[in-house]
Amino acid sequence: MNVADSDEMARYLAKRGWEPTCDPDEATIYLVNTCTVRQHAEDRALSEIGRLRRWKAQKPNRKVVITGCAAERTKEFLEMRFPHIDIVVGARSIKEFGGIVDGLLETQETDESLEYALGVPDGKVSTFVTIMRGCNYSCSYCIVPNVRGRESYRAMDEVIEEVRERANQGVREVTLLGQTVNSYHRGGSKGRDTDFSDLLEAVACVDGIERIRFISPHPYYMTERVIGAMAQVRAVCEGLHLPVQSGSNTILKSMLRNYTCDHYLKLVARLRSAMPDIVISTDLIVGFPGETEEDFRRTLSLIKEVNFDWGFVFKYSPRQGTLAADLPLHPIELIEERHHECLDLVERIGLKRRSRLIGSIQEVLVEEDNFGRTRGNYKMKVDRVISPGDIVRAVVTNVDHATLGGECVAEPISV
Ligand code: SAH
Ligand code: SF4
Repeated sequence: MNVADSDEMARYLAKRGWEPTCDPDEATIYLVNTCTVRQHAEDRALSEIGRLRRWKAQKPNRKVVITGCAAERTKEFLEMRFPHIDIVVGARSIKEFGGIVDGLLETQETDESLEYALGVPDGKVSTFVTIMRGCNYSCSYCIVPNVRGRESYRAMDEVIEEVRERANQGVREVTLLGQTVNSYHRGGSKGRDTDFSDLLEAVACVDGIERIRFISPHPYYMTERVIGAMAQVRAVCEGLHLPVQSGSNTILKSMLRNYTCDHYLKLVARLRSAMPDIVISTDLIVGFPGETEEDFRRTLSLIKEVNFDWGFVFKYSPRQGTLAADLPLHPIELIEERHHECLDLVERIGLKRRSRLIGSIQEVLVEEDNFGRTRGNYKMKVDRVISPGDIVRAVVTNVDHATLGGECVAEPISV
């Protein structure tokens, strides 16, 4: 979500004639888009902001802009602690980013290359498109609803318009984004609500769009209609990141996730029966308050039972203002131990799952040189350089912990 927000802000600035740079010495505006989902992310942002004191002091017209979720949560603290910040725009105010930044930059000459920058493609083959903001859940560990507010959905026409514009600029793959992305719906022109499956169908009709992904789906909204659309609409890729968080019903309940392990397992079975090659990945939290040894063992069993293709394993991080914030914490050593064991299992199972792909033929959408992604969203290196945006069929010859390697078996298809 933050990557997408950063892209959006960069596009906004580009339209005003600003160009991105990787070299801080060259920069006039330094924008730090922060995350607060776990303490570690926030700490990294704070040390980055601290380092900017010197950068800002080197030239008088330099501006430091802090945006995102940590900015939302700690605005007052940031302004007090780091007087070199020019402006803080919290995640809830992303829609006002334009006005706020225009105000800040008014002394700068921003209009000159306006025409030039409008609609300039950024050369990307794959892009994110935000379809909803906020979250109506209140998972007891999670700060997102506090910092991003309640759900609001973009109109379908607006989403399609953005996808069309990006496709005209050369984008071939869109990832639809939202905190519970598949809860998307709009009051109904079809005699019923337009839902996420309608949106998938509509995006697939945009000329030039070869692939559609979405993140993060919530298990509760993986309805038959959505599974049906995934299976039937060719552009929708067979890769699903479906966060489960825990394999213990007691912990799921205390996390306020509204499903049980049994629901989740049945859902995985339905997905696999509709799409036998689907790549399923997940998020897990270990060391949640009250997680007993037995709860933790249940999580390990669930991982084995589902056979996840890959997963992120997070150490529980208490977030002030969430329902779980006041629950007694486990000792950090125990959390580290469980994290290590869980990650190790996820990686072993993942490698085994990837090994079964050796000898299979994958469609690779090339992003750069000889690297691209399979429909299941594995990064794959092929044996020759192909134009970005082309799709090539390649046989998998080797796998490692993160990527597949292979050889092209046919000429690339230019799209
Ligand atoms: N909306 C998404 C998740 C967004 S946060 C969903 O519901 O699936 C991304 C991931 O961060 C979560 O899936 C969870 O695994 C992890 N996470 C969120 N809050 C956390 C916390 N307090 N401690 C550790 N991990 C956390
Ligand atoms: Fe956080 Fe739960 Fe909302 Fe996901 S669904 S953003 S984990 S509150």
